[in-house]
Amino acid sequence: MVRMAGVDKHFGELHVLRDINLEVPQGQVVVVLGPSGSGKSTLCRTINRLEPIDSGVIEIDGKTLPAEGKELARLRADVGMVFQSFNLFAHKTILENVTLAPLKVRRTGKAEAEKNGIALLERVGIANQRDKYPAQLSGGQQQRAAIARALAMKPKVMLFDEPTSALDPEMVNEVLDVMTGLAKEGMTMLVVTHEMGFARRAANRVVFMADGEIVEDATPDTFFTAPKSDRAKDFLGKIL
Ligand code: ATP
Ligand code: MG
Repeated sequence: MVRMAGVDKHFGELHVLRDINLEVPQGQVVVVLGPSGSGKSTLCRTINRLEPIDSGVIEIDGKTLPAEGKELARLRADVGMVFQSFNLFAHKTILENVTLAPLKVRRTGKAEAEKNGIALLERVGIANQRDKYPAQLSGGQQQRAAIARALAMKPKVMLFDEPTSALDPEMVNEVLDVMTGLAKEGMTMLVVTHEMGFARRAANRVVFMADGEIVEDATPDTFFTAPKSDRAKDFLGKIL
């Protein structure tokens, strides 16, 4: 569903992505781990061209992401993204946040967009908050709204970049539960997270990055019990 081949990227002198080769087949959940600054967020952001790449190819569902134009917009609409900071539109209600893109980009009718939107808000457990504004919700509720908003575009793949890192501890699980549910339903997902429980429970594969490189790509069981590289051992030693 997502394929990256030979992807390189620099920020000036800094080589942030080095020859990245990564496939996320349909229905798989891949968790990306790695120390701060290793390039995890940049990797996510290149997948929908929020960041351009220097060389290599990225394919979504078999189609190569172009650098710009209508085809890029079409492919981007197939990629849902959820960030650490919830990034909801502050001056729109929760339901408006969820229906905006389907109305504008997918040209869905209003009644249908609202019906789908309410169903998605029910799925993430906040349908009763639909007429509130983001600031009136807890962090966990806002992040669940952000997930519903991404799902409203019926994406083929969902990218999550540390979706629970900005949350108070008691709200982490309500968001992880929604993500686990999505994984069980067969959503293709690439998830950057420090939640090792989620990685063990929900991931088909763990990709470990260091200094812009994919250093290990293994099943969670293999990665957590028998990491191969010193860098992965060092990382696990610090967080487990
Ligand atoms: P963290 O765990 O802290 O979120 P990360 O693995 O997500 O880290 P990235 O945010 O991808 O790391 O950053 C990789 C490197 O690229 C870092 O050294 C960072 O400082 C640098 N970087 C990221 N974005 C930019 C930018 N827009 N301009 C210049 N350098 C950047
Ligand atoms: Mg990051």
